[in-house]
Amino acid sequence: MSTVHNPPFAKNYSVEMLQVDHGRGVELWDAGGKRYLDLGAGIAVNALGYGRKDLARIASRQMRKLIHISNLYATAPSIECASTLIRVTSDINSFAAVQFGNSGTEANEAALKYARLYARAKRGPGHHKILALGNGFHGRTMGALSATPTKKYSEPFEPLVPGMDSVPFNDPDALEAAVDESFAAVIVEVVQGEGGLRVMEPGFAERLNEVCAKHDVILIADEIQTGLGRTGRLFGSSLVGLSPDIMNFSKPLAGGLPLSATMIPAKVNDLLHPGDHGTTFGGGPVTTAVANHVVKTISDPAFMARVAERSMQFTGLLDELVTAKSEIAERRGVGMLQGLVVEADDPKARVAAIMAACAEKGVLLLRSSSNVVRMAPPLILGQTDLERGIEVLASVME
Ligand code: PLP
Repeated sequence: MSTVHNPPFAKNYSVEMLQVDHGRGVELWDAGGKRYLDLGAGIAVNALGYGRKDLARIASRQMRKLIHISNLYATAPSIECASTLIRVTSDINSFAAVQFGNSGTEANEAALKYARLYARAKRGPGHHKILALGNGFHGRTMGALSATPTKKYSEPFEPLVPGMDSVPFNDPDALEAAVDESFAAVIVEVVQGEGGLRVMEPGFAERLNEVCAKHDVILIADEIQTGLGRTGRLFGSSLVGLSPDIMNFSKPLAGGLPLSATMIPAKVNDLLHPGDHGTTFGGGPVTTAVANHVVKTISDPAFMARVAERSMQFTGLLDELVTAKSEIAERRGVGMLQGLVVEADDPKARVAAIMAACAEKGVLLLRSSSNVVRMAPPLILGQTDLERGIEVLASVME
């Protein structure tokens, strides 16, 4: 394996990193030429896989035409991409507009700001509280970080943005007891991508819809990891019956280029004025040209039918592994976002050892929380590669 020791990056990252050179389909090659099956997809980003000529063609054509122009101007790609996003989400809500950004955390910042702006306009100052769910993860900038209740992410950076609160995931009564008109927003994930891969129960989604509607609190679906096919459905929200007022996408949106989209309803959009929010790069012509193609590709019913079929095979194979291996406590997740909860004296170290052993055998995995082996492969993964990946995983687990 071709690793680099102590690269000149901030010490947020591992001191020993695999040096990746290139990719094709669902495979990556390291700098020394070793080949890997990638069940991580750049942390749920590379939904269409690597080495895509269609994405490269669209990006390079747009780069020759116009790489950047500020948000003071519209471009055909940004208009088309926003229209496509509004169209494909129309079953969830009739979103009126898109706020583009560059990353997941930025999409959540926009959502939190717009929710506060809405609550202030409707109910006056002081109605600004934000409710998050236990083990949720929404990003690393101060607002999104403050809405991320897990202390390990936020403690060194306190004090956080005030007015943040949390209730346990999938606890409808705690939710009902907590929310009142002093809240501007409730922010949720349908599957807790970083926090252990627990899936929202439909009954909890129903209560979220009811409680937020009752108090006119903005319900934000953070679909940065779950959106655009990852759950085996186009959107996680439709999987569990969630009806968000605002919905956020990022990771797979532009095929690996940085872009986010915050989908907003008319009741929020109608309150905005020029300058209320903005971004230099968000929604640029290159990223939106690629994203328009990615969203159209993923939302094609034939593409999603293949993803749904692969999701069933994936679930079935992992369920067999749970029965066969004593160190696996349970399977979590859904669709193409799956995890195995590892039971060990030191689960964190054991997950690291499993990941290292698989990498050695040419399969790349992710982690979720400390004790879950996570898999979020490209959505184009074929059955043979899926079976190969699970076989390698089986060979290193006890
Ligand atoms: N929200 C969710 C659900 C995520 O999974 C992530 C990243 O893992 C984020 C927000 C933050 O996204 P980014 O790292 O692009 O800021």
